[in-house]
Amino acid sequence: MSVYDSGREAMRIWHPCTQMKDHEMYPPVFMDRGQGIYFVDREGKRYIDAISSWWVNLFGHANPRIIQAVTEQLHRLEHVIFAGITHAPAEELAERLLAMALPGLTRVFFADNGSCAVEAALKMSHASFRNLGRPEKCRFLYLKNGYHGETAGALGVCGDGLYAAPFAPLFVPQIEVAGPDCLACPYGKARDACDTECFAAMEAAIAAHKDALAGVIVEPLVQCAGGMRMYPPAYLAKLRRATAEAGIHFIADEIAVGFGRTGTLFACEQAGVSPDFLCLSKGITGGTLPLSCVLTTDAVFDAFYHDCLDDKAFLHSHSYTGNPLACAAACATLRIFEEDDVINANRVRIEHLQRAVRERFAGYRHVLEIRNAGWITAVELCADPERKLPFDERARTGFHIYREAVRRGAWLRNLGDIIYFMPPYVITFEEIDKLADIAFDAVKAVLK
Ligand SMILES: *Cc1c(COP(=O)(O)O)cnc(C)c1O
Repeated sequence: MSVYDSGREAMRIWHPCTQMKDHEMYPPVFMDRGQGIYFVDREGKRYIDAISSWWVNLFGHANPRIIQAVTEQLHRLEHVIFAGITHAPAEELAERLLAMALPGLTRVFFADNGSCAVEAALKMSHASFRNLGRPEKCRFLYLKNGYHGETAGALGVCGDGLYAAPFAPLFVPQIEVAGPDCLACPYGKARDACDTECFAAMEAAIAAHKDALAGVIVEPLVQCAGGMRMYPPAYLAKLRRATAEAGIHFIADEIAVGFGRTGTLFACEQAGVSPDFLCLSKGITGGTLPLSCVLTTDAVFDAFYHDCLDDKAFLHSHSYTGNPLACAAACATLRIFEEDDVINANRVRIEHLQRAVRERFAGYRHVLEIRNAGWITAVELCADPERKLPFDERARTGFHIYREAVRRGAWLRNLGDIIYFMPPYVITFEEIDKLADIAFDAVKAVLK
């Protein structure tokens, strides 16, 4: 029996992003172990990890190559202060990251979760201007529906009202810009046949705030937590040009889309651009241990490189910065990318996933849109696609589909009335078909 079965009084653990009262009806599933794309609960029931355990798992649970790397490291050096000290896993990781990352990114700063990588990038961006004698450059532009983590600084650049609004008095709000909204394009264009006319809003915002701006932060190609909203690469090319012309930073938050999720190693590649900051986390350790990093340029690094008494060092630290176990897991993950030629090998599986989802959901009477960006396949559901009428919010349609899919053995997680697939890269064709079947059956069962 789970401690949750006896209700509110017995609930000791407060879970993230969860209305705990829901656990009266659906106690948390007591998971026992993971194996490949599955995890298995204490009763022996298997679930397909359809969303890679919140988008972090790339090569399956209990991946033997990652386990071996972490185990060896555990016996050698589990953790050590990262100031004044370095170690082999961090050095190898830095070398691998910079070798595979976008051109111009030459320096790595480690943190231990995505939100803190975003915090570090924002602080670094502003402080680099301050060090260059421009302290007034302290504002950031972000896109509506953008999501960059939930610590107070990161919430300042979150457009998703769901996460930021309840805490509005606690943080400094940055400047929101209308972003690409391809499903309701104000210019009446289609996603793959436009000239990103919507960039006009960004252009205007940069012009209006130029002197106060340090940079612009975006999630390249897919605004994930904001509803798997996808937009064309041309937007990023325009953003690169505009930020360079204005002398401000382009901060690419690839925490969710990095490491192959959109089909290329990094999403920015599809636009042929390199940002001034690249924030990475989630898949970096293959989903094994918490780790994040910010990659940046010589120009930014140099703005901090001074005599100590000049007070220009970058003051930002976390106790577990550069944790050797996490770095070892990340090195093993990046070695898998190289040794297995993962990006190329993924192509056929991505195609199969996209096809499997389309074959089942296309034309279904409650489908507003099916959209793909590499491994990320989202199905947006609504009451009436013709009239773009959403379901009654109180029905919690997406939530009930998620629960029904879980009952049937696939761990989905809805974003409102959007369901999406973002499985580990080691999923087979048969498993993809099974996942798509379970999801479609769950949708039909809830919407019958
Ligand atoms: C998940 C995510 C974050 C935050 O990472 P955490 O490790 O959850 O703090 C930031 N940005 C994007 C785009 C994300 O998807």
